[in-house]
Amino acid sequence: MDNAKRRIGIFGGTFDPIHVGHLVAAVNARAEARLDELLLVVSNSPWQKEGSRAITPAEMRFLLVEDAVRGVEGLRASDMEIQRGGSSYTIDTVIELTGSDPSIEVVLVVGADAAAGLSTWHRYSELSKMVDLVVVNRPGAFVEPSSLAEWKVTFVEVPSLAVSSTEIRQRSADGRPLDFLVSRHTIDFIAKHQLYR
Ligand code: ATP
Ligand code: MG
Repeated sequence: MDNAKRRIGIFGGTFDPIHVGHLVAAVNARAEARLDELLLVVSNSPWQKEGSRAITPAEMRFLLVEDAVRGVEGLRASDMEIQRGGSSYTIDTVIELTGSDPSIEVVLVVGADAAAGLSTWHRYSELSKMVDLVVVNRPGAFVEPSSLAEWKVTFVEVPSLAVSSTEIRQRSADGRPLDFLVSRHTIDFIAKHQLYR
């Protein structure tokens, strides 16, 4: 009998757009946390960001994530929150994953800024009992470990890259270079669809 559970990580985000910080964090979290696979889950409607700025259509954000991880072992773009529609809550994604395959163990991967906000997440107490948590460092972000007492948490050190999607959007609006922060394909896609003007 094979009682080794498959460890599936979920790394959720708006990914507007995906950048090198996400990708370096993802490959290293996957390796350090020994995940069979890490899903980059593109949020459909990021409820905590709604109303504060224009968000690129989910299908476009997903296409860019899919392209970015193509050929990268162990990383996969997931559109399950887009397929589900409505507001994106991580707990629903975890339930959907474990419901489809009870032999899965779900590991939630977040950057330190997201980790510091976990207590605001939908049904976070239930969520904390359903997943193991992996927190990766992020420049400028700090999470008090004692605030994560209810979680089974591991801290994974990844190369620090001070880049954010906000910075990419601002650079795009200003006409500053995006090279090496995002892929060539992403740069072309942004230009073609006139994103972040
Ligand atoms: P925005 O500026 O629009 O909020 P972002 O760069 O923070 O974009 P998100 O899609 O909000 O990207 O983040 C998705 C996940 O990736 C979060 O868990 C976040 O902490 C993590 N993350 C984003 N950028 C980095 C980075 N440079 N290093 C480590 N983790 C990161
Ligand atoms: Mg963010």
